[in-house]
Amino acid sequence: MMMAAKALVALACLLGAAEAKVHRCTSADAFKRIIHEKADGLPVVVDFFSDGCGPCRMIAPVYQAMSNEYKGRAIFVKVDIQRDNVGVQISSMPTFQFYYNGKMMHQFSGADEQGIRRQLDMLGGKAKAANFDVTKKDLVAFYDENDVEKVEKVDEIMKKFGPGTGKTASLFRKLKKKYGKEPKKTERPWPRPPKARPGQGKLLKDYTTEELKGEMSKRDDDEGASDDEVEVKQRKRRRKLEKVVVIGGGPAGLTAAIYAARAGLKPVVVSPQMGGQLMSKGVDVENYPGLVRSTGTKMVTLMRQQAAMFATEFEFASVTNVDLSKHPFVIDINGTTIATQTIIVATGADSKWLDVPGEDKYKGMGVSSCATCDGFLFKGKPVLVVGGGDTAMEEALVLARICSKVTLVHRKDSFRASQVLATAVKQHKKITVVWDTVVESFDGSVTAVQTAHLKNVKTGAKSELKVDAAFVAIGHIPNTWLFKGALDMDPTGYLNTVNRTTHTSLDGVFAAGDVADHVYRQAVTSAGTGSMAALDAERWLSERGLALSDEEVVEGGGAIPNYMEWRVKKLRKLMNEKKISAKGCVEKKDFVDKLKAWHAANPE
Ligand code: NAP
Repeated sequence: MMMAAKALVALACLLGAAEAKVHRCTSADAFKRIIHEKADGLPVVVDFFSDGCGPCRMIAPVYQAMSNEYKGRAIFVKVDIQRDNVGVQISSMPTFQFYYNGKMMHQFSGADEQGIRRQLDMLGGKAKAANFDVTKKDLVAFYDENDVEKVEKVDEIMKKFGPGTGKTASLFRKLKKKYGKEPKKTERPWPRPPKARPGQGKLLKDYTTEELKGEMSKRDDDEGASDDEVEVKQRKRRRKLEKVVVIGGGPAGLTAAIYAARAGLKPVVVSPQMGGQLMSKGVDVENYPGLVRSTGTKMVTLMRQQAAMFATEFEFASVTNVDLSKHPFVIDINGTTIATQTIIVATGADSKWLDVPGEDKYKGMGVSSCATCDGFLFKGKPVLVVGGGDTAMEEALVLARICSKVTLVHRKDSFRASQVLATAVKQHKKITVVWDTVVESFDGSVTAVQTAHLKNVKTGAKSELKVDAAFVAIGHIPNTWLFKGALDMDPTGYLNTVNRTTHTSLDGVFAAGDVADHVYRQAVTSAGTGSMAALDAERWLSERGLALSDEEVVEGGGAIPNYMEWRVKKLRKLMNEKKISAKGCVEKKDFVDKLKAWHAANPE
């Protein structure tokens, strides 16, 4: 009774819900339904977007406003390419596709409002010209007069070309061609008034149980749901015990997700923004195999698309706490929790910056934190390196091979770097060391850094250094504060991994990318360790028989089997064994709820 009442309340909410102006579409089925059935002869525009894409965010309010303006003349749909798999491949964002009568008529990429209008006006014109129906009575009359043998096929023809199919105009064209005349047209109002939802006006008491169930399951997809509703649904799905949660969305995390997803582990990637350091201002990538020339943003977009293709779920949120004291592990994100069998930590490390005037302005215009990545761009030019540790030495040596002159500025009169590297730097003909000196600011043209303003910390003397690029190599901060006390780290905070694997000091927790690597720190090495972490996690789950099990978590009850997958007979048997009363249980969900309640009261 209780469940039936709940179902009724839920259905009442759904029946009463106002129709969304921009339809959020999250599955291939819902997508097909919208462009074929829901459109009903109207053009459909689809915005393939992503939260992390600036132009997508820019056009979003315009798109929303246009949906109002074109109400009754076009259908507006949004697809989040990171979260929703509707079976359409997109190569850049935002992409707008235009459908008419189920067929894609046009597509373009970019936040081009006028482009959207042009297509909608053109397709809207077609839709208006074809905005009529035919009644069965008029079609029978037409065939009676022109082709009597067809009369018995009228039902079939109505089903294919009649109201709601969006193909009535094509039927009229065919008939005109064949018979030289048309049946009587029934004009439809234009713009189209909002359609009543199925069942609108019908009282709940008028539904049979079967109809209720049908209505509930029909509405249990995301078609037409607002972003908030989709979010809530995704959170509800979260009640399931995950097999792999990847924390961090840089190349390590995304590669781990691609591998884990392809192994059928349905990973969840949690990160406030995907891409990590690659998303920093102006990152050009020329040293990632297979991508001859690209940017960090483009690379991340491709990686995200690839992970999403294999059913990775993305959670754009910050992790606020990780409880590794019990298994399954529990991850807190913005007020909700995820329970998981394994965690891949791919939180990366942030470069330390000098925090002086001009530094931020010229990032991507000569000011960089990675000589291996950007040094090549300054071939034959004079450059500056700041720092006195191993990284600064390595950066200076790398740059000395490419650039005309390297000036290494260090705030002390001795390096903290290893003897070997420090000696190599001091002896290098192209490298000049400026001791006891700090950078006070940078300036330059609109497009490039040109001057570093220096100050000797002992004498106070100021000077200017003309450079084409400045590499800041004053260390990194690994993002490991969440794991302090729970995972082994080195004195500088990087996670320790076991031997040459990605296993951390805790069973079931793996580390990939810069968070466990202060030496190489490349996108390609991060991606490499990301794949290793997914393989290690998969092996770890398989060895424990957890890779294929589909379990749920109940509050206080830990992990339990996914009972909804069981047959009622098996559920009854288990309840018998556990001496749980099945009184009042009618539907499968009633049995499952009783079992869940039992687990919650009897944690193992
Ligand atoms: P690091 O050893 O912490 O050195 C940072 C350098 O930057 C220090 O010389 C420091 O000066 C200077 N510095 C810090 N803040 C500064 C500021 N605000 N202004 C000016 N200078 C500043 O960092 P790292 O060089 O990145 O090395 C990190 C770890 O990775 C180390 O353990 C290192 O050995 C290791 N590593 C190893 C290799 C290798 O083995 N091939 C390569 C790279 C890194 P002070 O000296 O005055 O503190």
